[in-house]
Amino acid sequence: MISKRMESLVDNNSVIRQMFEEGKKMAEEFGADKVYDFSLGNPNVPAPSKVKDTIERLLSEEDPVILHGYMANAGFPDVRAKVADSLNKRFDTAFTADNVIMTVGAAGGLNCALKALLDPGDEVLSFAPYFVEYRNYVANYDGVLKEVAPDTETFQPDLKAFEEAVTPKTRALIINNPNNPSGVIYPESTIKAIADILEKKQKEFGSEIFIISDEPYRELVYTGASVPYISKYYANTIVGYSFSKTLSLPGERIGYLVIPSEAADHERLFQAVTIANRVLGFVNAPSLMQKVAAECIDEKADIGFYARNRDVLYDALKEYGFSYIKPEGAFYMFIKSPVPDEKEFVAEAKKERILVVPGSSFACPGFVRLSYCVSYETCVNSLPGFKKLSEKYGL
Ligand code: PLP
Repeated sequence: MISKRMESLVDNNSVIRQMFEEGKKMAEEFGADKVYDFSLGNPNVPAPSKVKDTIERLLSEEDPVILHGYMANAGFPDVRAKVADSLNKRFDTAFTADNVIMTVGAAGGLNCALKALLDPGDEVLSFAPYFVEYRNYVANYDGVLKEVAPDTETFQPDLKAFEEAVTPKTRALIINNPNNPSGVIYPESTIKAIADILEKKQKEFGSEIFIISDEPYRELVYTGASVPYISKYYANTIVGYSFSKTLSLPGERIGYLVIPSEAADHERLFQAVTIANRVLGFVNAPSLMQKVAAECIDEKADIGFYARNRDVLYDALKEYGFSYIKPEGAFYMFIKSPVPDEKEFVAEAKKERILVVPGSSFACPGFVRLSYCVSYETCVNSLPGFKKLSEKYGL
């Protein structure tokens, strides 16, 4: 018999993962080139060639006992120092290795941060639409995720609703910038406004409220817009980063957390997160990948590839009458469903062998997410199916 906690997860397994499995089955049935699977954020762009070169060099030149061995739970000190240096150069910060913890992707990092911060019943806020796993991660530590309803015109945070949602039990706000699934970027003015509200609420409640900034898409920006570095605006922050998307290494499970020295009780918080890394069973981030990430920290997967996909889909879907915001970052489009029940639209799309994810998976029903980190051919070849759907719904 499995635990009650897992019962509901087994019964409601991730819609995105189910679709991914279904997509693979459909590909076997109809041929991979006849299935347009926009379900999962699994990059189709190969990792930059420097990643392979670095792996080969490290394997031939480094001491294997060190390269593949355990190290401090926070990660190799030289790797953490390199991450800090890179951030300082790019964002004019003053981090050192003592502000950086290497993690098992963004997912592992978020779990360590939440374990370090939450007591049972603590509330964590997030702006809908948000990454579906946040609710599970918060529940892992008996916290309660409370969502701030979306502004479906702009997909920018509704700041009034946010202010009203902060209570004495609020321990953290998770933000995701650039955003999965909407593709919007929260600008500096929004970040400043969020920081002001939280400063005020901390004073009012005599509490500490953390911003956990989940930033796996930080480098995937199309418009030249800048993504504000959150610790410059608010002291109680934990920034989570991942190399899954920027270096196309999602299966390698490598990322990091930054805990600025200005954060309340910094040293104990750093220790708590590091110990969380250990006791959650991660122990440390993958050793070889830590070294690779440090060497390739200024590399990026080819953003032009995603930009081309975004543009071809944007132009065609607009012409067909679909409505959505042009994504500024990440590799997702969040399209308004032509019918109120977006699951009906998802089912109709499947008949055209187009797989998209219902917005209810992101706490935003009435929309569907399309993940365009697929091949250009998949985007182009899916267009007749989208056209048929638009005709069907009279768009
Ligand atoms: N956060 C967001 C917003 C994501 O979209 C994802 C993955 O798609 C993650 C976290 C998890 O990333 P990682 O592979 O680094 O664990």
